[in-house]
Parts: sequence; C-alpha cells; structure tokens
Amino acid sequence: MIRRLLGLLLLLPRLAAAAAPQPAVAFTFDDLPYAAVVSDDDATLGSMTAHLVQRLRAAQVPVVGFVNEGKLYRDGEPDPARVALLRTWLDAGFELGNHTYSHPSLDQVPLEAFEADVLRGEAVTRPLTQAAGRTLRWFRHPFLHEGTTPDVRTAFARFLAEHGYRVAPVTVNSAEWVFAAAYANALAQGDADAAGHIAAAYVPYMQTAFAQAEQLALDLFGRPIPQVVVLHANQLNADHVYTLVAMLRQRGYRFVSLDDALADPVYATPPGVTGVEGESWLEGWARQAGLRPPALPPLPGLVRQWAGRAAYGAN
Ligand SMILES: [Zn+2]
Repeated sequence: MIRRLLGLLLLLPRLAAAAAPQPAVAFTFDDLPYAAVVSDDDATLGSMTAHLVQRLRAAQVPVVGFVNEGKLYRDGEPDPARVALLRTWLDAGFELGNHTYSHPSLDQVPLEAFEADVLRGEAVTRPLTQAAGRTLRWFRHPFLHEGTTPDVRTAFARFLAEHGYRVAPVTVNSAEWVFAAAYANALAQGDADAAGHIAAAYVPYMQTAFAQAEQLALDLFGRPIPQVVVLHANQLNADHVYTLVAMLRQRGYRFVSLDDALADPVYATPPGVTGVEGESWLEGWARQAGLRPPALPPLPGLVRQWAGRAAYGAN
C-alpha cells in the first residue's frame, strides 16, 4: 500500500506537467515590405522577402505582416516591384495588416493626422488583400505608441472599429531590430565574420526575451498566455528565422494564428495609459498591477557597435 502511494506521489508531478498547456506564440512582422536590409534594390528585396516567406511557410508558422505603404512608392507611384513583395506574403497564405503609411507615432501627432495616415496606408494593401480573397482587418501601432490619454485611445479605438480593424498587440518586445540593423550593416561592409557573430547572439537574446515574457505572464495570471512576438521583415530574419523557430520549438512552443492567440480572455482587457511609451501589453498590464516589468536583455557590445553605424528605425 505504502509502496503504491509512493508510486502515485512520484507520478503526480509528471501528471501536472502533462496537464500544463503547451506554450503558444503568434508571429507578426512589421515594417513590410522591408526593414533593415543590405540594399534596397529590387533584387535584394526580392531575395530577402522570398527567403523569409519560404522559411516561415516551410516551418508552418502562421504570420501577419504589417505594411508601411509609404515604402512602396517611387516617384509618386506605387512601385510594381515593391507591391510584388507584398504579394509574395499573400501568395504564401499569410495575412497583411496596416501599420500606417509613414510610421508616425500616435503619442506625437494629432489624432486626425494619424487617422489620415492609417487610411492612406491601406490604398494598395486593401485591394491587394481583397484580390487574395481576404479581408484587411489588423492594425499595429508604430513604435507600439497607443496614445498618451484615455480620450485619444477611446477615439482611435472607435475609428479602428469603424474601419473594420482590430488592434494587434505585442507581448514579446525586444531589440531584434537593433540586431537586424547591426547585421545588415556588417554585411553591407563585407564583414561576414561580424555578421556571423551578430547572428549567433540573436537567438540566445530572443530566448531571454521570451523567458522574461513567460515569467511576466506567470506573475500576472498564474499561467502561461499565448504570446505575440513582433519581428521585422529584415535580412537577419530572412537568414536566421529557422534558428529562432527551432529555439522556440525546443522551448515547447506551438505556432498559432493571431486570431487563436487573441482568443485568450486576457486579451479582452487592453492595458490603459501607464505613462510609459512603447511598451508591450504584458509590460503595460504589469505596470498597472504595480509590478515593474524587467528591462530588455542587454545588447552585446558588438551589436551596439555595428548598429550605431546604421540608421534604421524601430518597431
Ligand atoms: Zn514599425
């Protein structure tokens, strides 16, 4: 009897582990058609996009990509080669969302001007999305700036609803874009060795960022929540997204659509104004609960050094 009881006790932790929900993550990519790249000529952008999209598709990772339509224009017209980059994402079965035309900050420009930029940012993407049999329905705030007053947030939420958009929040924030700037700069200067070191530091960095988000969710909700990570359409991810996906699989993650992630009830209550700009929802929720969210993991010196030579924007 005692032996059987002992056996049961030994089994219990394993049963508990089996019952724990498998961690889930939704992948989102900002600043389409491209962020940090070695060059913005058609061939480079085409190859970067093709690699990134093919690898995500092969890994069976659902994706929503957020577009800055201002980057499609050359000489005042949407450039067909750049519009074709967006079609590459749609053809792979991925969804596109609106990230504004010119990437302004809702914390810094008047609401009316910001809303005009949102509408200007769907002129190409909406018909392109419809032609692919889909609906344009996701919005991502540039810099994750969601407005500094409750009035602006309420008014902009109404505007989004009227235009059929839903906010795509982020829970895993990171300095991935700094790694990407450093990587592109090293490649552009022909320093493959430095680029290799930057890429090698990227995925361990992201592992720490995910571990922080996981812990914050446990602290706040007592359980894992489906995470939403923001990455960018850049050369670093085109070359190394497989390694990132492999790290997450090893951590037990499954890759879910943004719809599935946001079906979790925690997403029904966005964080309010916290006085801190550009935070993830997890960081916002934490601050509201009186917790101080952890700082981003430190950047390796080599990454800071090479990123300093580039001039790319963030988020
Ligand atoms: Zn952005």
